Amino acid sequence: MKSSDNINKLYIDGQWVNAASGATFDVFNPASGEKIGEAADGSGSDAARAIEASRKAFGQWAGLTAHQRSEYLYEAYQRMTANREHLARLMTEEQGKPLKASRGEVQYGADFLLWYAEEAKRVYGKTIPAPRSDQRFMVLRQPVGVVAAITPWNYPVSMVTRKVAPALAAGCTIVLKPAEATPLCAVEVFKILHEAGIPAGVANLVTALNPAPVGEVFVQNPLVRKLTFTGSTEVGKILAKGAARQVKRISLELGGHAPFIVFEDSDPVHAAKGAALIKFLNTGQTCISPNRIFVHRSIMAPFVEEFKSRVSRMRTGSGFENGVSIGPLVDNAALQKVQQQVSDALDQGAALVCGGRRLTKDNLDRGYFYAPTVLSDVTPQMLIFREETFGPVAPIIAFDSEEEVLALANDTNYGLAAYIYTNNLSRAMRMFEALNFGIIGINDINPTSAAAPFGGMQESGLGREGGREGIEEYLETKLGGFSI
Ligand code: ADP
Repeated sequence: MKSSDNINKLYIDGQWVNAASGATFDVFNPASGEKIGEAADGSGSDAARAIEASRKAFGQWAGLTAHQRSEYLYEAYQRMTANREHLARLMTEEQGKPLKASRGEVQYGADFLLWYAEEAKRVYGKTIPAPRSDQRFMVLRQPVGVVAAITPWNYPVSMVTRKVAPALAAGCTIVLKPAEATPLCAVEVFKILHEAGIPAGVANLVTALNPAPVGEVFVQNPLVRKLTFTGSTEVGKILAKGAARQVKRISLELGGHAPFIVFEDSDPVHAAKGAALIKFLNTGQTCISPNRIFVHRSIMAPFVEEFKSRVSRMRTGSGFENGVSIGPLVDNAALQKVQQQVSDALDQGAALVCGGRRLTKDNLDRGYFYAPTVLSDVTPQMLIFREETFGPVAPIIAFDSEEEVLALANDTNYGLAAYIYTNNLSRAMRMFEALNFGIIGINDINPTSAAAPFGGMQESGLGREGGREGIEEYLETKLGGFSI
């Protein structure tokens, strides 16, 4: 894709417009360091303009029938599916993930449009038996109003639709600010929304190099009634604090520190295969990525052997090359963080099973490539045991009993995803109930779908996205008490 294919503009009130400052910023390919395009550099005033457009559009959009809103979303779904290859190629170029994974993500992104095209029609209210014979209670569900959304770079299409689709289905209008590393994918998604005929002002896009001023306007502007954010726990806390001033509703999808527990009654080879697939998905840059792999001591040897053999065969490089399953990290800061966690672990006695270095040969030095890495003998004192890694490093920790591993797994402020491998049904149920995480994979590494609620406990977030729950986040509950 050439930069001329990009629209380096904001999308406000149904129009592609320049940022108020006229400024743009460059967008780079993290695999090669090459510039691939430009995006409009929106500011707080652009955000305010977009919020105003959203407010203007709200009444009419909320006033459509659910069936009408559903049709727009269904049209967008079909257009996204038809554009899958184009979007996937752009994603690999802008974000770095292998093309096959990009295709999968575009499909996942489209799934939210389809799912919420359907759920729009199922926003049921209810009647409640009232205490007096001359009284009737009726509960309405109504859209919360104007929504402000902030999305991350690791899933640059699906994180956009996961917010836009339920918001629009519920009857809300929205202003979205995508991550500065991946604005081009967001622009393509909004082109699709535009082509699907979604009315002016209903969905607005403000790209920006510096997110903070836009975030400030999102929390301070009283027209915004709901803020939805996916990103780091650190930024989520700042936004939550800001939103509290006006008691805005918020949904937060934040960091994770997923335990991956392999019990002695599971097949270590099967578990190692699962662990290798999910740990290195998106180069480990996934909030549900296993961050602590707990393996029962009695099956440590066969697990590590299989895991090492799979990981050392993984090819790292450009996502456009056949056979590559590990793309670049997003930027230099991500590379530094991974390097720091690995050297801290090695200094404190962890053993390097494979990897453990930046990759620079064959032009990989132009991007941010790190060898898929396995560390064993990891202990709770090490940084990697506490900090989210967001990179291709798998730390392995031995355990001896179910109680011990449950305590270790729950010993984190995060609470997004957890995985367990066991063939003991009672143990599976005990762990499912006792793990303090919002998403638990039981002999399953992919417990995600547009149809299922995704979200975390503790400092991993508030609220759920996807599933029936996802639309609830955009609905108010209103009680009517009627005397008859
Ligand atoms: P990561 O560390 O994964 O990049 P961030 O939380 O920094 O996660 O980024 C996620 C999203 O939050 C991006 O869209 C980014 O631009 C945005 N963001 C970062 N800092 C702020 C801020 N102070 N206010 C509003 N949005 C922010």
